[in-house]
Amino acid sequence: MKVSLPLSTSFLEVHSPKLSPLLDRFEESSSLHSTLLFTGIEGVGKKSLVLHLVQTLFCDESLFANSESDSGPDLFGSSAPSEKKTGRDPCGNCPSCTRALRDQWLDLYWFDPEAPEDGSRLGSHKIEAFRDLKSKLGLGPVSEPFKIVVIADADRMTPAAANSILKMLEEPPKNWIFILTASDSSRLLPTILSRCMEVRLSPIPSEPLFAILKASKGLEFNSIRGQVAARSANGSLTRAIHFSSEEVWTLREQILGLLSSPAHEWMKLVETLSKSQTQTHLGLDLLESIFSDLLQASIRGDSHVWTHSDQRELLLQISEVRGLSPERLCGILGTLAEKRKLVNLPLNAKLLAQEILIPVLEVL
Ligand SMILES: [Zn+2]
Repeated sequence: MKVSLPLSTSFLEVHSPKLSPLLDRFEESSSLHSTLLFTGIEGVGKKSLVLHLVQTLFCDESLFANSESDSGPDLFGSSAPSEKKTGRDPCGNCPSCTRALRDQWLDLYWFDPEAPEDGSRLGSHKIEAFRDLKSKLGLGPVSEPFKIVVIADADRMTPAAANSILKMLEEPPKNWIFILTASDSSRLLPTILSRCMEVRLSPIPSEPLFAILKASKGLEFNSIRGQVAARSANGSLTRAIHFSSEEVWTLREQILGLLSSPAHEWMKLVETLSKSQTQTHLGLDLLESIFSDLLQASIRGDSHVWTHSDQRELLLQISEVRGLSPERLCGILGTLAEKRKLVNLPLNAKLLAQEILIPVLEVL
């Protein structure tokens, strides 16, 4: 688990309304769906919100505290506590919340995909990971009202792993809740999808994204960098955090410097971006946002809100010197989009950067 508590108010303002229907249902009927699926783009905050929900369900001061189970085979019901509490957010101070902050919950099983050791590919959930879980199915919660199983990035389960958990989702043990997250739910088995109640998180608009970044960085926050990052992130918090980093800021300066240089210097861009696949990815993201800025500005004029607002003058100068008409900018963006498909090919970083960037530079 790589998320930390407590979450910022700005984050909860954006996403916690999505939890309201679940909590309303509990208040009305004292029951929750036993299998939830959180979906949304990569980096939107699914895992953070799931952890917040777990903490809410476990908190000793919440409306779930002291609930007793009365479950059926596919839904579990919980009788409301005799003295009903109304807390919809974890208190942060009770013994259960303290355990959460120390990552010491005995009733939470959290599964992340297993990445290959060399980090060359995205990880996946393998069937072996869930074997241990099967042996625990007969057990009830130890110290919390429920046992909760989180399968993060469930769209990266191998078919065998997905089939192995299907039975558990069909007949969940009493007092157990399964929570899955997925960026691409079309990769889940239809039989798993049909078991789940979906909670769909929308991309985060740039203004709240800026506020979340500001809250996470504290005094170190750089406002201009934060604005550029929030507007470049396409609604993804992870992407915004990455874009506001020193590494990406430096890379952007290098790219802007090279785009302002004579054409024979541009091959240095290939060198700069071929240091690693991550660097190639970041370079492509930056080039895309720079050329999109210029295209939008040429179409919308003054009404365009610049992503790279701090570099507006320089970008307009580059555009004028290079004669970047809307048609040419569309061509550049089209080539970038087409070549981006190569990014996941198993090529070495240098070859990859050449394959992708040289055609783009030729269009320039
Ligand atoms: Zn608490």
